Amino acid sequence: MSSCLLLAEDRIIVIDPGHGGRADSGNQKEFTLSASNNAKSPSGLLEKDLTLELSLEISRKVEELAKKRDGNAKVRCVLTRTKDANPDFAERAAFCAALPVTPSAIISIHFNASTRHDALGSLCLIRQKGRNPRFAEDSDFAMGLAKAAGSAVSRYVPGSNARKPITDENLHGGLGSNFLHQLAQHRKLDRVPKCFLEVEFMDRADAENTLLKNRRVTFPAVAKAIAEYLVAQISD
Ligand SMILES: [Zn+2]
Repeated sequence: MSSCLLLAEDRIIVIDPGHGGRADSGNQKEFTLSASNNAKSPSGLLEKDLTLELSLEISRKVEELAKKRDGNAKVRCVLTRTKDANPDFAERAAFCAALPVTPSAIISIHFNASTRHDALGSLCLIRQKGRNPRFAEDSDFAMGLAKAAGSAVSRYVPGSNARKPITDENLHGGLGSNFLHQLAQHRKLDRVPKCFLEVEFMDRADAENTLLKNRRVTFPAVAKAIAEYLVAQISD
């Protein structure tokens, strides 16, 4: 978990780099299971490494932008992990709830894969309607985030676009995403905008070649677009 000094007047965005470490953590019985990795690129890049790289870049961009935009209002980014580790979802949610200020947004960063390795696009996943007191707001927040990320990604991946948010109701027997489920155990986080952002499908050679292998150039640009959106959202 990241450990920068936070002050009570800071506004905090939590970035959760999906997956991590060498082993799955938590367990499905308690809905805490976090897989060590999920998607893989054709040449073997791992989602867990890319989520961390991009999250660190988003964090840098958020703080840079916030400083430029308003020297007094402090917007800080914290990460649920800053190294190749895999806190389970109860731990990640407890980290969000224990921050000195209720976060202004919680975003879990992922890269996607499809069974036929033919899909493209940026999309967000949100908590299902029946279990989400801010379903309408999360839908709008998630669509805006997918558009921001998608417009940057599509500069490098022709044919990519921003997809409409999907909900988590088909996961885990209807209970939804383990992370969103664990966040819901902390009532103080009920009103916080939150979603998963699946930045792009990483299991295609074209996306790998243009977006991932060129990530020293592409990730700062994608991170900047995401950061601009987030800072604008929480500054309004
Ligand atoms: Zn993932």
